[in-house]
Amino acid sequence: MHSRKRLFIGLFLLFTIMVLMALAYLIFYLREPDTIIFQYGIYILIGFLAALAGTSLLVLTVLVISLLKKRPLTGFNRLVQKTLVFFFPLLLQFGKLLRISTEQIQSSFIEINNRLVEAKKIKVPAQKLLLLLPHCLQDEGCPHKITRNPFNCRRCGNCSIGTLIDMADRWQFKIQVVTGGTLARQAVGKIKPYCILAVACERDLSSGIVDSYPMPVCGVLNERPQGPCFNTMVCLDSLEQKVRSILE
Ligand code: SF4
Repeated sequence: MHSRKRLFIGLFLLFTIMVLMALAYLIFYLREPDTIIFQYGIYILIGFLAALAGTSLLVLTVLVISLLKKRPLTGFNRLVQKTLVFFFPLLLQFGKLLRISTEQIQSSFIEINNRLVEAKKIKVPAQKLLLLLPHCLQDEGCPHKITRNPFNCRRCGNCSIGTLIDMADRWQFKIQVVTGGTLARQAVGKIKPYCILAVACERDLSSGIVDSYPMPVCGVLNERPQGPCFNTMVCLDSLEQKVRSILE
């Protein structure tokens, strides 16, 4: 069997074995509740669940206070962001079970992430700010290839790219147009920014934020008047405001 398939099946098997062991443990516990080993096991399980619930409660409290105060609570910011990134995929699945739209949950996650990043009041030099743009912002009929070099844009005014290149020229921050996660990761690896300002749809932004952790990513949702991935737009004023707030 191919090693990539083996890894997935191996992890799946490990998970199944762990569930079976937990099940066997519970069955034996119900049959022999007074055996000392089962009593210790139950205490360990209670301790684990209590730690999990305690961390969730602490993170929720810190999160709400930080959002209300618009500043991070010293010492907790890393824990909050780590927990959010860890729980996000689980909450997506949980939301699906409750029939809440995935896009709504992603959008809410992006909003919370942005508020936490803004609360940190990050300031970076222009050369260390990367503006990541999706390829679908480019006018569908434009013949110029801007994914490798965005400065191939002729700034004709048919789409927002020209104005954003002007902005990058004026403020001297880095700009990259990407077709997906691979190019985005390459750009981040090459430029090594301290902060990313990313424009994309809910799905790409939320997965980008999770992938890039602990790099601070401020997400801006694109507008899709003609449907997804086609001649999309972005609010240039709010984008410029965000650039100003991040630059030193
Ligand atoms: S502004 Fe640039 S990317 Fe947009 S259509 Fe004109 S040349 Fe193409």
